[in-house]
Order: sequence, then C-alpha cells, then structure tokens
Amino acid sequence: MNASGSDLVVIGGGAAGFFGAIQCAERDPDARIIILEKSEKVLTKVKISGGGRCNVTHACFDPSEMVQYYPRGEKELLGPFNRFLSGDMMAWLDDHGVETKIEEDGRVFPVSDDSQTIIDCFTGTAQKLSISLRTGCAVTGLQPSADGWIIHTGEEDIVARRVLIATGSNPAIWRLLEAMDIAIIPPVPSLFTFNIQHHLLQDLMGVSLPHVTLTLKLDKPVVTEGPMLITHWGLSGPAVLKASAIAARELYDMDYRIHISINWTGQEKNVVLQWIDTQRTTHGNRQCQQQTAFDIPKRLWERLHLAAGTSGKNWADLRTRDIDLLSGVLCGTILPVNGKSTFKDEFVTAGGVDTRDIQFTTMEHKQFPGLHFAGEVLNIDAVTGGFNFQAAWTTAYIAAEAMAGKLTQV
Ligand SMILES: Cc1cc2nc3c(=O)[nH]c(=O)nc-3n(C[C@H](O)[C@H](O)[C@H](O)COP(=O)(O)OP(=O)(O)OC[C@H]3O[C@@H](n4cnc5c(N)ncnc54)[C@H](O)[C@@H]3O)c2cc1C
Repeated sequence: MNASGSDLVVIGGGAAGFFGAIQCAERDPDARIIILEKSEKVLTKVKISGGGRCNVTHACFDPSEMVQYYPRGEKELLGPFNRFLSGDMMAWLDDHGVETKIEEDGRVFPVSDDSQTIIDCFTGTAQKLSISLRTGCAVTGLQPSADGWIIHTGEEDIVARRVLIATGSNPAIWRLLEAMDIAIIPPVPSLFTFNIQHHLLQDLMGVSLPHVTLTLKLDKPVVTEGPMLITHWGLSGPAVLKASAIAARELYDMDYRIHISINWTGQEKNVVLQWIDTQRTTHGNRQCQQQTAFDIPKRLWERLHLAAGTSGKNWADLRTRDIDLLSGVLCGTILPVNGKSTFKDEFVTAGGVDTRDIQFTTMEHKQFPGLHFAGEVLNIDAVTGGFNFQAAWTTAYIAAEAMAGKLTQV
C-alpha cells in the first residue's frame, strides 16, 4: 500500500471537520491539510439542518449562560466558550460573506434561509486555502508512528503529524477508537418527541401551547418549561425536546416508557386556584368551559374540563372536590409515554469519546498526543436551537488553534 504524507488529516467532512481544517489553514497557510470524507458528498447534515435553513448558532453571548444548554458538556465547554462563542461565529461568517439574522427565539440563521449558503461558504473557503478533499474515502484504521500518525483508508495509508477526528456520531469510528483503548460513552439518541396514545389528546393534533411546565416522573424528576405541540403521535415542541435531551440516557434505559405530568397553564397551582376563585365570584353564572384562560386553546380547554368533570357546570356551582379535580388536571395531567419519534428538524446522539480524557485547551486526547477531537464524536450534546453546531464550531476552533503552528515545525 502507498503512503503519502500530510501535516494534518481531518477525518470527516462535516461541520466540525470543515471548520477545523479552515481554521488551521487560515493560521498556517503552508500546512498540507487533507479532509477525508467517507460519503460522496460533504456537509450533508448542514444541508438538512434546521429544516433546510441551517440554524447555525444561538444568540447567547455569555459563556456561563451558554453552557446551561448542554446536558452533556456543560462543565467542559465553559473554557472553550470563553475563547470562541456565537458572536465569534457570526462575525466569522460575516467576514466570509455570509450575513446572519437572529430570530425572536434567539436562533441564528443565514439571511438567505438556505443551508446551501453555509455549504458554499465552507467549500469555497477550503478551496481558496488549498485544502485537499477526498470524498468516498472512509478511514478504516489509525496507528501512532514516529512522525505522528498513520491513517489507513481503503486506497492508501496517509502519514500525518496531527489528526483531527470529526466523524460525528459514526459507530464504526467509535468501535475503531475503542479498539485503541479510547473510552467511549455508549451512544443513545437525544432530541426526540414522545409517543402517547391517550384519549385526552385524541384528535387534538396541531394544538399548540405557548408555555407549559413538563415533569418527567423519574427518580430524580426532570422539569422543563416552554412551548408544546400536540402531534399525531403524542407531544413535541421545545419543552418535550429539552426533556428528551436532559433525560436521554434514563429514557433509553427505561425503553421510553415513563409517566409525565403536564401543567398546561405554566403557572403555580396557587395562581390557578386564585384564578378559579375569581371566576366563581365574578362569573358565577357562566359555564366553566366557556371562556378559555392561560393561553390554552379552546379545543384542549374543553377537553380538560371534560377530564375534570367540570364541563357543563357553572363556576358558582363548583364544590371543593370539583376545584381540586380541575386544578389537578390544569396543573398536573398525568400521561403515559410509550415510545419516541424522531424530531426531523434536529436530532443528535448523546455519548461518544469520554470528555474526561480530553484536554479542553487543545481538544487533544490525554493519552494520544497529536490526536484531536471536535464535534459530535465527543460525549457533548445540547438542546435544539443552534447549540449543537456551536459545540462543533467551538471545539474545531480550539483544536485548530492548538494544531496550527505545530504542523509545519520539524
Ligand atoms: C436532521 C438534522 C437537523 C439538524 N439541525 C441542526 C440545526 O439546525 N442546528 C444545530 O445546531 N444542529 C443541528 N443538528 C445537529 C448537527 O447537525 C450536528 O450536531 C453536527 O452536524 C455535528 O457536526 P460534526 O461535524 O461533529 O458531525 P457531522 O456533521 O455528522 O459530520 C461527520 C462527518 O464524518 C464523516 N465520517 C464518518 N465516519 C467517517 C470515516 N470513517 N471516514 C471518513 N469520514 C467519516 C461523515 O460521513 C460526516 O460527513 C441537526 C441534526 C440532524 C440530524
């Protein structure tokens, strides 16, 4: 087998791989950099991301606030975010001809609303910087050598001083790394919606709530807040996705069969009780289900009153038991989850290279000098909203800063 030489081999032509290679080449223009990508196309996840619009980052400019969106990686990313955060990525894109916009909920997209804009920027910049790209080239093995690393592909072996592994959630690479005694936290899905078959939700698909509180009934309950959507299969929306990310591993262990409690009002129970009291004194002759409240859509509001047994009753006629039942349903409907579905706009894998073995000032493996990691290959993942890409950009940036300058030294 032939062996060709290189200064840096980037394994994976995805988000982290491209950004890492570009960052290195911008700092070290003489370095010979190759990206090896197993598919025929590069940046395929960027293409489909954010429903085809690419939610490239999130407008959160405070590292300590930013880390709170990462169920795995919170502690480790604080230092890296102090060096490269959303504002830096937006500025980098701007410098490279991509204008971005911030939406009301903080998500950042290219002004074009087209993920191809990001792909064109990355591939065009890589070409200008003379970064070599080999597609259809899967890495099948890795071996330390006197000069750095030998990378095995089906066609040839490549010798490189340094390697950046940016293979996303690819199981074959995790197996290969495990065979080298690199610890891998077992991968499980994150960011999914809940399957629920329950008469309370029947025929209510499309009903959305701006603010609910959701509690997963686990040994250590997980509580999330935010919008929620009733779907054909159950429940979706930010409150559900956030909960799925926080409890990804526990939910996997329980085969996605748990009970959840929903506070449809998003308010404390005493606020709801006070509101019921006011209705009894000010609208005593009005039927309870007539006037909606707490931004709960009418169809659901009526269903909740049916469930509480208060439908058709006047506010003034409610007894203590009715009030208990109604406030219980409004603030704590218990529903059984019996599976999960994929959220098509964004899904990620929790698990990957154990972050305890990574030096976060260089993204280098503590036991394998010259072997750097970036992106989803690491045991780092976030809730939806552009945070997963930001982890890829930041870790690639940190790895590139460490590698550049060391690539062409003898
Ligand atoms: C449908 C969908 C939508 C998403 N939308 C968003 C969004 O809008 N915002 C957001 O922040 N996140 C989003 N995400 C998550 C985001 O795409 C990932 O977190 C991000 O792509 C991770 O980047 P990465 O470079 O680590 O991995 P990837 O982008 O997956 O790139 C890894 C690359 O490595 C290649 N590879 C794997 N093994 C080998 C090998 N042995 N040899 C050579 N190459 C190899 C793969 O083919 C791939 O091209 C979305 C995910 C999905 C699935």
